[in-house]
Amino acid sequence: MTAFNTLPLRTELLDNLASLEYLKMTPIQAESLPLLLQDRDLIAQAKTGSGKTAAFGLGLLQKLQVENFHIQSLVLCPTRELADQVANEIRRLARGLHNVKVLTLCGGQPFGPQAQSLKQGAHILVGTPGRIDDHLRKENLRLDKINLLVLDEADRMLDMGFQDTLDAIVEQLPKTRQTLLFSATFPEKIASLAARYLNKPERVTVEAEH
Ligand code: ADP
Ligand code: MG
Repeated sequence: MTAFNTLPLRTELLDNLASLEYLKMTPIQAESLPLLLQDRDLIAQAKTGSGKTAAFGLGLLQKLQVENFHIQSLVLCPTRELADQVANEIRRLARGLHNVKVLTLCGGQPFGPQAQSLKQGAHILVGTPGRIDDHLRKENLRLDKINLLVLDEADRMLDMGFQDTLDAIVEQLPKTRQTLLFSATFPEKIASLAARYLNKPERVTVEAEH
């Protein structure tokens, strides 16, 4: 397996990876990171536990302009538990960069404090489609400066009936952006989602456990 320090990542990220004892890339990271660091759109398919979060997390942190305090990337997840896990992993990966603000917005949580947090701002937004769409409709949130969209566990989001909500959110995003779609499976409806949201995507698949 390949070491992270073969990638064109910021030294702060590489140093932090070493302190987290992330030394070698997992197979999905090794396949997807070189492409996503070249700003390619990507469909990545790999099973649970294969390290998909760090794959897109490092991509979005490499791209982030910390001095520009506005939402630059949006990560959509099927459930609150997954959104919390993703946000925590991104915070861990971001430790070497100063003051990166990751905000989660999920259903089942009171609305007011979320609106308040949105007023204070963030660099990275992680959440479930329903609640993000609610905040967009209430104009608590603008996503017109997003340059990276991640659909994590896209197959589960579709199974949960989020298709129309995803469409409504994606409609609010700039057309010029990078889009990454992660999924454990690749049924026809994922192919059609990818065809609508992604631009000339590369496709990477990792079947085996690392
Ligand atoms: P997935 O999203 O594919 O289900 P996760 O991103 O949740 O997988 O990663 C699974 C676990 O592997 C996490 O505990 C994470 O901290 C760990 N991990 C990810 N990448 C590496 C790596 N390169 N080296 C060591 N541990 C890693
Ligand atoms: Mg995951």
